[in-house]
Amino acid sequence: MIGIVIVSHSRKLAEGVKELAEQMVQKSVPIAIAAGVDDPENPLGTDVMRVYEAIISIYSDEGTIVLMDLGSAVMSAEMALEFLTEAERDNVRLCEGPLVEGAIAAVIQSAAGCDLETILAETRTALATKVRSLPLQNLLPLQPKSDLTGGLQIQLCVINPLGIHARPAAQWVQTANRFQSNITLQNLTKNSPAVNGKSINQVITLGVRCHHDIALTAAGSDAPAALAALQNLIESGFGEMNPSPRIQGEPLANLLVEGEIRGIPASPGIAIAPAILYHLEIPEIPRKPADNPDWEWQELQEALETARNELQALSSRLTSGEETGIFQAHQLYLEDPALLDIAHDYIFEHHLHRGSAWKIAIDQIVASYLALADLEIQSRADDVRDVGVRVLRLLMPEIRLGRSLHLKEPGILVVSELQPSEVAQLDPKTVRGLCTAQGGVNTHSAIIARSLGIPAVMGLGSYLSHLTRGTQLALNGTTGQVWVQPNSKVLSELQSPHPPATEHLPERTLPADGHSIPILANIVGISGADVAREAGAEGVGLFRTEFLYLDRAMPPTEAEQVEIYRAIATAFTSHPAIIRTFDMGGDKPLAYLHLVPEPNPFLGWRGIRLALERSDLLKTQLRAILRASAEGSLQVMFPMIASLSEIRAAKQLLVEAQEELRQEGIPFDEAIAVGMMIEIPAAVLIADRLAMEVDFFSIGTNDLSQYLLAADRSNPKVAAHADALEPAVLRAIKQTVEAAHKACISVGVCGELASDPEATPILVGLGVDKLSMNPPAISAIKATLSLLNEKEAQAIATAVLQLDSARQVRNYLADKIRY
Ligand code: PEP
Ligand code: MG
Repeated sequence: MIGIVIVSHSRKLAEGVKELAEQMVQKSVPIAIAAGVDDPENPLGTDVMRVYEAIISIYSDEGTIVLMDLGSAVMSAEMALEFLTEAERDNVRLCEGPLVEGAIAAVIQSAAGCDLETILAETRTALATKVRSLPLQNLLPLQPKSDLTGGLQIQLCVINPLGIHARPAAQWVQTANRFQSNITLQNLTKNSPAVNGKSINQVITLGVRCHHDIALTAAGSDAPAALAALQNLIESGFGEMNPSPRIQGEPLANLLVEGEIRGIPASPGIAIAPAILYHLEIPEIPRKPADNPDWEWQELQEALETARNELQALSSRLTSGEETGIFQAHQLYLEDPALLDIAHDYIFEHHLHRGSAWKIAIDQIVASYLALADLEIQSRADDVRDVGVRVLRLLMPEIRLGRSLHLKEPGILVVSELQPSEVAQLDPKTVRGLCTAQGGVNTHSAIIARSLGIPAVMGLGSYLSHLTRGTQLALNGTTGQVWVQPNSKVLSELQSPHPPATEHLPERTLPADGHSIPILANIVGISGADVAREAGAEGVGLFRTEFLYLDRAMPPTEAEQVEIYRAIATAFTSHPAIIRTFDMGGDKPLAYLHLVPEPNPFLGWRGIRLALERSDLLKTQLRAILRASAEGSLQVMFPMIASLSEIRAAKQLLVEAQEELRQEGIPFDEAIAVGMMIEIPAAVLIADRLAMEVDFFSIGTNDLSQYLLAADRSNPKVAAHADALEPAVLRAIKQTVEAAHKACISVGVCGELASDPEATPILVGLGVDKLSMNPPAISAIKATLSLLNEKEAQAIATAVLQLDSARQVRNYLADKIRY
């Protein structure tokens, strides 16, 4: 780190400057003082040897900057250099920047990891800043005046409640970039140096808050128009002057302190704990040399372009202006001169590989965010990391990039979005709750959170981005409420004992008639089998095997899979475990398949379509399932079947795998049952034909609802429309059950509807033969079933099929239970 020496006539002055500068950063920067002389009568003065000693005390080959106040201080510093060796002298620079502002600028830049030349430049600009800002005091606020460099300046006060945070900064930079003029921005309230107004990183790290005074300068032919456009943005409060309807009650700024936010209830339960902001972990990347800088730069440009397209596709899927604003900001990072200059420098000057250069640039910018004392600005470092990782994945596909999933302290995870594979790794002991900006109740992330028993609220939107780490949060995953710094009333309500799930069951229900339905579990890995057994499951009704393929560099080998399926096969004896072949794509992307981002992933290359095209992967999996079937009872099930040709092609691959094993003399269960998911409306319509092809059906109500109701299960805006209690979905279940029973095959439900005790009478009434669910739901469903009479269940099912909507179905069930 670059060290700073402060040379002054007054020790008190030097100590004050040091204290002030240190307060600006969190990291400790080497600062030495050479101030005053050893004369109690006349302590003011400078001493050459003291300056020399101060320099030596913090000297490093990276560099040292010496700042002086005036007169003899400059002379003493110059003479002190004479005592250094020639090599040392090369690394020490006397800087003419102003003592106070210069020291602050230098310390901030040093903490950010900048190099000697960059810091010197910033320190010198601090002088210009001071010179420029003084005449402004006499200006009328909105009249542009020429500054000392021939540019025009105006001074304004920021009025939007959250100041220039990520989204307004994005608007600012987009506007500034429309003009040719050089534009700088300065936070007068913080007396910060002027920064490049076209750099999103520099604009954000200015830390401009509500009521801060700022100075904007534009120099160039279109300067007046540029200032007018930027002034307009500031005065309109960046369109943030109206609080969002999502947050109820008071103005936005207060609400973020004390307020209540509502999202989508995704996993039931109460959590009270500090916010832990999830961040991407960028692994160490070796500094790879490269000898063709032009080519490296070109490759970097292409990766940036791809990343830009990905972000564009992501933001076009969102409907809320707040959220698209975040992705627009991310796109601006890709063009940020501050970031690109560093990468350019490391490619052309240091001859590094594009990936190494990009990583250094990201690290330096992240460090500049973290060096600031403002927690909110520090949180924005995650945006830079996020964008950085997006590009690194393209530049170095061989590097494994992931997030730190192991929390040291218990807390509520706050994150924009979590991949299902990431949720599957969470430890419920430390992850007390989960808040996500994206997502919906039937996303795989929510499903996994429920199966782990982690309370979750999803689809909270961009308000999460205003939270700082450590903020106390409370959430109710049943109602979808999240409280930021909850007051004592909220806390005591949440902490008062809640009735156990079974007490929600009907008080007066239908007498049981012994109708028994196997209760099976949905799992995502070996440990799920133990959890399922403890929760009272009688077997595994759905093993989502795609989780074995996610979050790794290569697909699992056949041998690896055999081990896992064997463990599952032997975990239960009363029911065969149903192994669903991998269902990738949709919201479960896979790095090593190089899936191109699709505008509609749920209507894209997913499930059996992908598996049949990558028949190498599917064949390996089928061989593994067959081999494990020799040692325990297993069934194989294919996902996302839409046509007869698909199920026949999948079965053909199974036959080939069987034939191969026979040839190799490897034993397997020759009578293994083959089933398929019914989760695409087309499959419901041809269920009579499909039933001739397989031994059993399992209805996936999550996908069936999203496709029948044309509502993307991962889009918080419409996810609620994909309600499996809609009579249309219930009719589809009825049709499927009838087709299955006519063909004498069994039919289960393994979608989330099976975990909902409200739906149990309907599913039983419709004739479903088995239910497979999240382990935490098992006790409530068992309790419901134990009270159920088949005849009355049939009456309920018949009645709800005639209702108008899911809401009517729920009201009907509530009445039925109460009478
Ligand atoms: C379903 O679609 O209901 C289902 C069980 O499959 P998944 O949730 O894994 O898509
Ligand atoms: Mg599905």
